Amino acid sequence: MAFNMSEAELKDSTRAFLDSGPKQLFINNGWVAPQSGEYFASLNPASGKPLAEIALANEADVDAAVAAARAAFKGHWSQKFLAGDRAALLFKLADLIDAHADTLAELETLDNGKPYRVSRKGDLPYVTKHLRYQAGWADKIEGSTVPVTFPNQFVYTRREPLGVVAAIIPWNFPLLMAIWKLGPALTAGNTLILKPAEQTPLSALYLADLVAEAGFPPGVVNILTGPGLPTGAALAAHMDIDKLAFTGSTAVGAKIMEAAARSNLKRVSLELGGKSPNVIFADADIPAAVRGAQWAVFSTAGQECVAGSRIFVERAIYNEALDALKGHVEKMQVNHGFAEKVHVGPIITEAQMKRIQGYVTDGQKAGAEIISGGAAIKDLGDGYFFEPTIFAYQDDSLPLVQEEIFGPVAAVTAFDDWDELIQRANSTMYGLAAGVWTRDIAKGHNYAHQVQAGTVWINGYGMIDPAAPFGGYKMSGFGREMGKESIELYTQVKTVWVNTYQDTSKPE
Ligand code: ADP
Repeated sequence: MAFNMSEAELKDSTRAFLDSGPKQLFINNGWVAPQSGEYFASLNPASGKPLAEIALANEADVDAAVAAARAAFKGHWSQKFLAGDRAALLFKLADLIDAHADTLAELETLDNGKPYRVSRKGDLPYVTKHLRYQAGWADKIEGSTVPVTFPNQFVYTRREPLGVVAAIIPWNFPLLMAIWKLGPALTAGNTLILKPAEQTPLSALYLADLVAEAGFPPGVVNILTGPGLPTGAALAAHMDIDKLAFTGSTAVGAKIMEAAARSNLKRVSLELGGKSPNVIFADADIPAAVRGAQWAVFSTAGQECVAGSRIFVERAIYNEALDALKGHVEKMQVNHGFAEKVHVGPIITEAQMKRIQGYVTDGQKAGAEIISGGAAIKDLGDGYFFEPTIFAYQDDSLPLVQEEIFGPVAAVTAFDDWDELIQRANSTMYGLAAGVWTRDIAKGHNYAHQVQAGTVWINGYGMIDPAAPFGGYKMSGFGREMGKESIELYTQVKTVWVNTYQDTSKPE
């Protein structure tokens, strides 16, 4: 498998997909033109050039997709496809994704920018691991029997699907996020409308044909492309969608919750932003901790919700750790995703580049010190590249420290004692993830229990697994994806009471 290639060496299947004309909407297992006739371009962030024309779904298209998903839910999908049948389809889909992994990874790198090695060896294998893990749950979704205090009553619960699920996902792990939602939604017996991010729709659109090939009945999976307005907002406000599963920014998550409340009280699960603290104690394996801290924030150019973007170092080793971090970071190669040497790919859009630059400029003005990086890279063509940037700071109230930048920017600070550390680590509105590096395992557990975060890594960072629940505390959202919890997120409980009393006395 070659990881250094030029775009001229793309697989024929990738080229054919890109060259096959404007991409339409996927409804009822078929491709349909958007009712408005409008299209938008998906750009390659490494070059700023358009990759494909993409259909823009409006309210009428959302209505059509919801009608398809509702009909599938009421019809074939819930009547004829029992748990084992659903699992078989999901396993088939996983096999097809594996068979098309090179093309899907190429599309991911073109559309999102991430290094091809990461798309192919990271995202793609994890996509199918996740799908297979979820499929395994299909025939294990059990209810319970309930010992009530009434006599002669047999009471049991069933876990039933919710109905039509809409999933709105971001651009940083396009296919993976699609599967995080598709897997449990279909495993549990729901039907799905997926809206990929407008910046990265290609892998989801390629997936659509694999869904049809796997044999899912029409309407079970529908894919609508378009921006937040009108497409995402129309899904959030729709009266006949039963659940909305969202991954993205906290600001949009709040809007979705509001739209859900104002429409039909559809269930909402939100996996939102983060500003995760990564702590290095003086007793840690310092080289490993520094490496861990480096990758926790700079892999994916900081464009991931669990990025360890606040680094707390115990004062006794602060200078040593900061020097080591700077040394490693300055060796990181920023380049386009198919380059021979690339650690950090491009920033997703020009607008996001400007946002990152704004945080850097304001941070400097407010007194934070740049240790490394801090500028856009201009000599890589017309793409959007930014240097991995390290700031040293003391003031926790800086926007640079409080807000999610979603770029290659780390904020490093020294701490002196435990209470200060816990207070400062918990001082943002977020609570998605946290890391801690120490050889004192009791201290590691203690920190894990006191930090307000949905996931904590002790002596590691960033591992996410289909079996391990994942989600946020505080304004990082609610609902747990992965593990058994993800089935709970896509089902509802029905309690059934059965009167077992029988009058066996003989008639007079
Ligand atoms: P990011 O910072 O990752 O771009 P966003 O929260 O802006 O995160 O976008 C995540 C997803 O939410 C995308 O698919 C986007 O189109 C969608 N989105 C943006 N605004 C809205 C909205 N008002 N209603 C519904 N979905 C939206």
